[in-house]
Amino acid sequence: MKLAHYIDGAFYINEEEKYLDVLNPATSDTIAEVPMATLHTLDFAIRTAEQAQKVWGQVPAPKRADYLLDIGYKLKEKKEQLARILTEEMGKVIEEARGEIQEGIDMAFYMAGEGRRLLGETTPSELTDKFAMSVRTPVGVVGLITPWNFPIGVPLLKAFPAIVSGNAVIWKPASETPMIAYEMAKIFDEVGLPKGVVNIVFGSGGDIGTELVQNPHINVISFTGSTSTGRKVAELGGYHLKKVSLELGGKNAVIVMDDADLDLAVEGIVWSAFGTAGQRCTACSRVIVHEAVAEQLEQKLITEIEKLTIGNGLDEANKVGPVINMEALYKIHSYVELAQLDGAKLLTGGHILEGDDFDLGCYYAPTLFNQVRPDSRLAQEEIFGPVIGLIQVANLEEAVAVNNSVTYGLSSSIYTQDVNTVFRAQRDLDTGIVYVNAGTTGAEVHLPFGGTKGTGNGHRDSGASALELYTELKSVYIDF
Ligand code: GLU
Repeated sequence: MKLAHYIDGAFYINEEEKYLDVLNPATSDTIAEVPMATLHTLDFAIRTAEQAQKVWGQVPAPKRADYLLDIGYKLKEKKEQLARILTEEMGKVIEEARGEIQEGIDMAFYMAGEGRRLLGETTPSELTDKFAMSVRTPVGVVGLITPWNFPIGVPLLKAFPAIVSGNAVIWKPASETPMIAYEMAKIFDEVGLPKGVVNIVFGSGGDIGTELVQNPHINVISFTGSTSTGRKVAELGGYHLKKVSLELGGKNAVIVMDDADLDLAVEGIVWSAFGTAGQRCTACSRVIVHEAVAEQLEQKLITEIEKLTIGNGLDEANKVGPVINMEALYKIHSYVELAQLDGAKLLTGGHILEGDDFDLGCYYAPTLFNQVRPDSRLAQEEIFGPVIGLIQVANLEEAVAVNNSVTYGLSSSIYTQDVNTVFRAQRDLDTGIVYVNAGTTGAEVHLPFGGTKGTGNGHRDSGASALELYTELKSVYIDF
């Protein structure tokens, strides 16, 4: 299937453009071809968005919110079909794909509610016969640059607050996962979202991404992806004085204290480390364990990890799917080799899975190390694959120090039954999200999503705070 951009409410083909193959990571079969936009195509999208925004920004916010309700119902209706497409192009197992579509549904309904508030403030003036208030106004045209690991969940966390705030959107999906974006275009069309409010342009990060960030007609950039690309987006966007929101990597840990329910902890670790084959920015990749329960936890983890069924995510029986492509597979393996040179001990996994059962797919065996030094590369760098390392500590203070010793600050988790430990940990863990007695993944849309330190630049996706990025606050003084 040949895909097309979606601009001005219609599918758009530019005969001069090249196409890239989209591969199913479970089989390496080509399942679609995606166009790589020229700057000419992007320019068309930007001009369209600018025109559309002028009208859309005047539509009352509750009416804009109504479109989100319609989109939410459409997503519900098509949930199973969309989940299958998502699994086919991204690889995550079907149950997780359903969860990701559900996240989009939740965000649609949640943001529709925000459209009925879109709160400004009134405040008493210092002077008589003067009225003071602030109102939220749209920012203009918003550029979204989104990743392949959550190819629909993450874009919708950004697009819905942008739309409900009265902006027009240009969305550049990752080239690995364009099919779900194409399906989303059909939904925008089916609900009659006014033309040009959302435009989808497929293309390379180097060309289209760079131009989005530097183009003077784009007012906001929201980017989720790697730290190295994020730095470039920040530099270029900063130079052009844009509002830039960055949601970058994570090096998330589960802390298991000596009073923890170990079975519960194992369940949370396995799910948050190996769900989406470890390719979540919130994935657990370090387990910081109290020395008193380290050996017991280790044994229980090995048993559960070795029970995981690995294979094509469309088969409901499989718990872990492939990683996104061969390049990712080899990168993960190089970290595993490096960890062994660094003195870590491999307990299970540690290899690429090949053979008839794996059908030319990109599968990596769920991997567990112990004796991991907190300052080693395995414990410091984001691997983005199904690999975890155990680090032993003697007490809570040490656990918190190890947790906080990385450059990232996205998600953390602690298993304990002591309420005092819970309160100390939630205060001291330096991450944007803290879980107690649950793994590091599974954020809900009602609260801010994002992190501290190298995970980003302080903005949050989802929750009411997402509106901060997509609105300007105008202070209005009225003398009467
Ligand atoms: N929403 C996902 C979670 O809480 C993470 C999104 C991401 O990895 O980008 O696990």
